[in-house]
Amino acid sequence: MSYQDLSQECRQANATLVAVSKTKPISAIEGLYAQGQRIFGENRIEEMLEKKEALPDDIEWHFIGTLQTKKVKKLIPNASLIHSVDSIKLLDEINKRSEQHNVVTSLLLQVKIAKEESKHGLDATQLMDIMNGINKGGYPNIHCRGMMGMATFTDDKSTVSSEFEYLKSTFDQAKRKATWQGFDTLSMGMSGDYKLALEHGSTMVRIGSLLFGAREYV
Ligand SMILES: *Cc1c(COP(=O)(O)O)cnc(C)c1O
Repeated sequence: MSYQDLSQECRQANATLVAVSKTKPISAIEGLYAQGQRIFGENRIEEMLEKKEALPDDIEWHFIGTLQTKKVKKLIPNASLIHSVDSIKLLDEINKRSEQHNVVTSLLLQVKIAKEESKHGLDATQLMDIMNGINKGGYPNIHCRGMMGMATFTDDKSTVSSEFEYLKSTFDQAKRKATWQGFDTLSMGMSGDYKLALEHGSTMVRIGSLLFGAREYV
């Protein structure tokens, strides 16, 4: 799909487009940059840092992959948004490392919406605990901007729809509870399901293969 068509579709839906460039070369990123794209998503820290070093400073790098606690120190302060906070331990570590760098790190809470074991995320109780912890002022060096989720990888639209509905209602509930400003981002939708995600209230889609072509893993 052409970049221009996709970015226009996102604009019309009031959603931010994250171009997921994982595994893709610098030249592919430069191609979209030349057309105006400024937000790119990566899921490996080393790869993200290499690309960041080689590319213009006005690119915002979003970290969308599984994040190990011991690797957080490499990521801070290099990611403008972390989509994938899936444990309290990780939240504690991000807050601590951000404090050391004297920065406030923007992040999303990753919610488990798919049945698949491989898809991480927080359950309702953990989300509640975290929202309460932030409301009480326990995390001065993080800015929780909203939530992220990955639907089951299936052609069955009703499964994906019900997972997106669940995430949207969880997000809306949390938003009502949040005592801070800027809890406004719902990151849901990838190449195969972004249209359904936009219909269900997504404000940010993460799109890789539709823009860059299929990934080849070596
Ligand atoms: C790889 C990835 C994407 C993009 O996937 P596509 O199907 O290529 O659009 C989106 N979100 C996350 C978390 C990913 O890891």
